[in-house]
Amino acid sequence: MPTASASGSAWGRALALAALASAPLGAQTRPPSWAERVRATETPEVRRRVLAVNVGGTAALTLGRSAVEGEVHDLGDGARALAWGAVAGAGFYAAKRISGEGQPALALGVAALAGSLAENAATGGGPFGHLRVPLGLVDLRVRTPFATRSDGPALGVEMDPLVLGASVALPLWGAKPRLRRGVAVFETDDLGGGPRYRRQGRTVGRVVVIEADAPPHVLAHETIHRIQALQASAVTPGGTVGAFAPDARPTAAGGGVTFDVRTEWFYALNATLWTALVDYLDRWPEVEARALDEPPRP
Ligand SMILES: [Zn+2]
Repeated sequence: MPTASASGSAWGRALALAALASAPLGAQTRPPSWAERVRATETPEVRRRVLAVNVGGTAALTLGRSAVEGEVHDLGDGARALAWGAVAGAGFYAAKRISGEGQPALALGVAALAGSLAENAATGGGPFGHLRVPLGLVDLRVRTPFATRSDGPALGVEMDPLVLGASVALPLWGAKPRLRRGVAVFETDDLGGGPRYRRQGRTVGRVVVIEADAPPHVLAHETIHRIQALQASAVTPGGTVGAFAPDARPTAAGGGVTFDVRTEWFYALNATLWTALVDYLDRWPEVEARALDEPPRP
């Protein structure tokens, strides 16, 4: 029938037009591949964003911790916490870059210094009043001659229950404690992972597990995650569950040796929320680690 055929060709034309119109649209809205999404976060723009987030975020969180710890009494206190927090944030960014440049041990040293600045600014007593010295299973918090307060401990010995627990549990599962480029890690043969993205390293808090044959950038990547845990720790209010024997060995400068257990609740909360709410590739800690875990390409 002529009418049917005319109507049929009208439909055909409409379909052809729709197909033509939707072709570029389809090309634009096609979901990017895994590799494309990874490449999209390895650009100078993302690096600048990472720097801004480290500086701004650490400044804001240092001020926040300072307020919670009751150290903000006037505008000057707030400005000092913000300023030293920003300096610490730049230090954390530098540490992550240094890890990506292939010097993870130096990176952890710089991160410990940045962490000391942030926590000193947040807890009062002068930006260089205490120095955090990570010693594997424990951290020392050593009072320096720059401390502006004579109260508080001269030496703090802090334990992270996760590090202690992992040091006992992981060897039982066959992971061996090793030094890799000066960094303490647990080495294992196979961490599993999917076909798209073979997982060769895993970091929870400050505990790094790595495959024995993982290429160098995996250690750089996991060290960046470990620096993120240090960073979260430095701005965690009420970070320790309390001092044991604060006056056990009073020193001439006042205070004594304390033994603390760190809670790291802020890191745990942050990591849980990112994991629960955001797709793996889009989680900020992953974006940051991917953006910085290798030297920039020419
Ligand atoms: Zn990662």
